Amino acid sequence: VAKSRGRNRTVIFDEALHTTLIRRIQLEADLREALAAGSLWVAYQPIFDLRTGACAKAEALVRWNHPTLGPISPLEFIAIAEQSDLIHQVGEFVLDTACRDARLLREQGFPNLRMSVNMSLRQVDRAGIIDVIYATLERHRLVPAALCLEVTESTIAADDLASVRIFQTLSEKGIHLSIDDFGTGYSSLARLLNLKVNQLKIDRSFVTDLPVEPDNRLIVEGIIALAHALDLEVVAEGVENREQLDVLRGLGCDHVQGYYFARPSAIHEFIPAVGQAKSLSDPG
Ligand code: C2E
Ligand code: MG
Ligand code: MG
Ligand code: MG
Repeated sequence: VAKSRGRNRTVIFDEALHTTLIRRIQLEADLREALAAGSLWVAYQPIFDLRTGACAKAEALVRWNHPTLGPISPLEFIAIAEQSDLIHQVGEFVLDTACRDARLLREQGFPNLRMSVNMSLRQVDRAGIIDVIYATLERHRLVPAALCLEVTESTIAADDLASVRIFQTLSEKGIHLSIDDFGTGYSSLARLLNLKVNQLKIDRSFVTDLPVEPDNRLIVEGIIALAHALDLEVVAEGVENREQLDVLRGLGCDHVQGYYFARPSAIHEFIPAVGQAKSLSDPG
């Protein structure tokens, strides 16, 4: 198709592809170095219980400050890591760091804090993942319920019996399971029940226009009703303003996470950030 439209098209297409490929190859090599040099780090964003106003959970979010390109989005470098074997190293680094910091926070005023760690399908697929998770919990003296694994709908929808069994084993042990970006993929209700999922996370895209978009309100209302009918907790992510918070509260959402309360921050800024977060009982 490109060729039939003339030579220029072909050149533009090839250049774009070339640039993308070069960046990918470069980032993969640089990520390998960053892992070896220990320059990845983990940011934490608090998640608040809407009823009590307390910070009940936190989400661990990996960060990479590239030496020349600056901060690279995890959406970009996790995808690159997933296409190579680097995802296992990145995943183990995040799990270990998040568990270490969960222990710290549990000793410093958040005795029941549950730490959420994002996991990609490729990580779950790997033999030995269960042992890695148990060993990490033990190393940091954490009970299984201190850890929540966040996986996307597509991860649990995958027609892969091995990963279904792994999730079942982890949940029988007491580790929590959360479905991230819920509403953007397809997941069967049977699968949600079968896996003993504990939590649904409403995707940010539904929260953004929540106060003005009737469709989004219906979707959010539906997800909350579904979660409660299945006895699951529901978290809304990406809450950026008071209007969104008010609607979520009115609809009976359990937990909220977003820039309105606190941005993800380094561990030493987490406790001050929670202290400064807008109070959930504050009327205005
Ligand atoms: P996610 O798991 O859905 O994480 C939520 C994303 O929304 C985070 O982006 C967070 O910084 C951002 N966010 C939180 N509150 C707000 C808000 O009020 N407004 C807006 N605009 N954004 C908000 P981040 O840190 O860039 O991560 C993007 C995605 O990268 C994550 O989406 C997750 O899918 C992936 N990711 C991050 N860390 C890891 C990791 O350690 N392992 C894996 N496998 N994936 C990760
Ligand atoms: Mg997540
Ligand atoms: Mg999410
Ligand atoms: Mg999301």
